[in-house]
Amino acid sequence: MIYGTCPKCNASVMSVNLKEIKVNAGNGTGWIGVSYQCALCNTVLSVGIDPVALKTDTIKGVLKGLGKT
Ligand SMILES: [Zn+2]
Repeated sequence: MIYGTCPKCNASVMSVNLKEIKVNAGNGTGWIGVSYQCALCNTVLSVGIDPVALKTDTIKGVLKGLGKT
């Protein structure tokens, strides 16, 4: 298997560290996000929305819309 390399330290990226971060959308709204960081030098390789938190927030939003909470 060929691994990608970190753009900063040039090491093969075989694992990444996951850090929880806030993704701000303005107006005080936002999501819980995650950043994927090089395990060796902590350079941020990618940022995304936390899929588990997104699912939970979506369910909460649907229930709220239905007046169940
Ligand atoms: Zn690195």
